[in-house]
Amino acid sequence: MSRQILVTNALPYANGDIHLGHLVGYIQADIWVRFQRMQGHAVHYVCADDTHGTPVMLRAEKEGITPEALIARVHGEHLRDFSDFGVNFDNYHSTHSEENRYFAEDIYGKLKAAGLIDSRSIEQFYDPVKNMFLPDRFIKGECPKCGAADQYGDNCEVCGAAYAPTDLKNPFSAVSGAKPEMRRSEHFFFKLSDDRAVAFLRDWTQGSSASGTRRLQPEAANKMKEWLGAEGENKLSDWDISRDAPYFGFEIPGSPGKYFYVWLDAPIGYFASFKNLADKAGVIDIARFIDGDRAGESELVHFIGKDILYFHALFWPAMLHFAGYRTPTQLSVNGFLTVDGAKMSKSRGTFITARSYIDQKLNPEWLRYYFAAKSNGSMEDVDLSLDDMIAKVNSDLVGKFINIASRCAGFISKRFDGRLGVSDPEALAPYRASLESGEVARAFESRDYSRALREIMRLADVANQYVNDNKPWELTKQEGQEARMHTVCSTALNQFRVLAGLLKPILPGVAEQVEGFLNIAPLKWGQLIETLPAGHAINKYQHMLTRIERVQIDRLLEANKASLAPTTDSANPQRHAESQQKEAETQVTASDAIAIDDFAKVDLRIARIVSAEHVEGADKLLRLQLDIGEERPRQVFAGIKSAYDPALLAGRLTVMVANLAPRKMKFGMSEGMVLAASGEGPGLYILSPDNGAEPGMRVR
Ligand SMILES: [Zn+2]
Repeated sequence: MSRQILVTNALPYANGDIHLGHLVGYIQADIWVRFQRMQGHAVHYVCADDTHGTPVMLRAEKEGITPEALIARVHGEHLRDFSDFGVNFDNYHSTHSEENRYFAEDIYGKLKAAGLIDSRSIEQFYDPVKNMFLPDRFIKGECPKCGAADQYGDNCEVCGAAYAPTDLKNPFSAVSGAKPEMRRSEHFFFKLSDDRAVAFLRDWTQGSSASGTRRLQPEAANKMKEWLGAEGENKLSDWDISRDAPYFGFEIPGSPGKYFYVWLDAPIGYFASFKNLADKAGVIDIARFIDGDRAGESELVHFIGKDILYFHALFWPAMLHFAGYRTPTQLSVNGFLTVDGAKMSKSRGTFITARSYIDQKLNPEWLRYYFAAKSNGSMEDVDLSLDDMIAKVNSDLVGKFINIASRCAGFISKRFDGRLGVSDPEALAPYRASLESGEVARAFESRDYSRALREIMRLADVANQYVNDNKPWELTKQEGQEARMHTVCSTALNQFRVLAGLLKPILPGVAEQVEGFLNIAPLKWGQLIETLPAGHAINKYQHMLTRIERVQIDRLLEANKASLAPTTDSANPQRHAESQQKEAETQVTASDAIAIDDFAKVDLRIARIVSAEHVEGADKLLRLQLDIGEERPRQVFAGIKSAYDPALLAGRLTVMVANLAPRKMKFGMSEGMVLAASGEGPGLYILSPDNGAEPGMRVR
């Protein structure tokens, strides 16, 4: 029976590039969707950009454009990245859409009618310069536990402590640098601690859907037990779902100046994208997929990263259930990506963007194959081991799979006019047995792609062994072996056809080439067991997939390291600053003027010195942490120890060169340069902007 499945991927936030860490979950979902379609099931696969909230608002402001212009641009970039990796959504929409407003208001209205929305006055940090309430991420200060400087408002990255922003010592606004004030405001809450919600979630998170599939993977279900607490205990807090103006989002009906928190309308974006698709397509019965009382007619499967499990396993099903919508059939939660065993890192070049991978001309199907080989359907982190990826792609994909066709196709073309002969049923028997056992299909269904690939590669070994044993290249030289050789090559190409079909969810591009080469209709799962008959004409073999060379990976890492090459090779950033400045002065006095474009290459930014400290073993250097409005402060070593007491530097604003290539120094990475004035005599003077300048502003 044909299943009706609505599949979604987590919505990427409209404030940054897609990187390989994102792609793990998207590729896993796309493989699953392609597999289900090959089975003949009806799948709708949708996604959207998550567009609302403070970071988009501030980023747009910083770029001097409207939030709408920013999200339109990012939407185009994201969609292009996904398409280039073969992630083939039926619809890629936006949470800033009328469909989303409709569902957000509808769900909110129904939760309110059910008595699950509460309003309370809360105290929150307010930025008096910027005139806005500050989200936790935009408040920084010293960790209340270990005293580490420059920690975010919710947890300390040094000691790992979790706390409220109000616990921070010496808090400051990461937006303006101002000292925040406590102010009161009215907020709306979704009453997750309500007995009805708790009882529903206890049952829902541990249960199975109508089809018998567990809604959550075992690790996720256990996590939920932890979060929900023991029976009789109530560990859930109500969820703050409103934010005050200025905010980029949907204003809450009947509450001017109050907006839905971005996380309220983000998952609703799944339905919005689906409705947008249904309206365009005109033939989809949307109620069948979203109505609470029709849940048995379809499946709703969300692919998400483990960082957003909380939202998808607690808030989202509770919202849906109490608003009369259907709840998800299944959540497929993936772990984080590490590269060569470590967290992705900008300084090592392992924070790899999707775009750079494409620009460096690496084949997206290499990555799809490798991610599949590392995906076992659990929440474990996935490690992209670069040398292992090279080895796997070259030995499995090219060496074992493609090799079968490249060894046999030429004989068929040259000797038999491109027509297949009779195949050897005995050599095809292991293939038939594997297909009949359903082993690969079950592995795909449970998203254990590594198990699927182990079986597929076992079958590839069978084919290679068969070709090795029968040696068509020798048969061709022997009298009277013409028919035998025809059979051997035809059999191997039939084996190759089955392998291409089994790999098709993972390698759609290669499979399409194989379909062209074998001159066959698009491969369907149920037909894989058939054999191409004698007399079937194939096309001339053309090379389908190249090997990866290490140098390509090295170039990729290099491309992700820094945007600009270093301008001098001084290891001392301060000397660097002075010599550059002096050079500039000399040039100007010599009337050797530069063009404005030359000057524009230097990205000068207002930086807030969040901390300054002595560097052990360095006579002249101070280690500075500089906030220029990025997610993390930059570490810069500056040769200003002779002139400044580090204790007096923290908190002040200065000017830094932000696009200087990072330099590895004895004491750590230096990620930029601070400007300072100096004359013939002693004395060094760092710069200060006038009042009103903010971290991250460009100096031009
Ligand atoms: Zn700490």
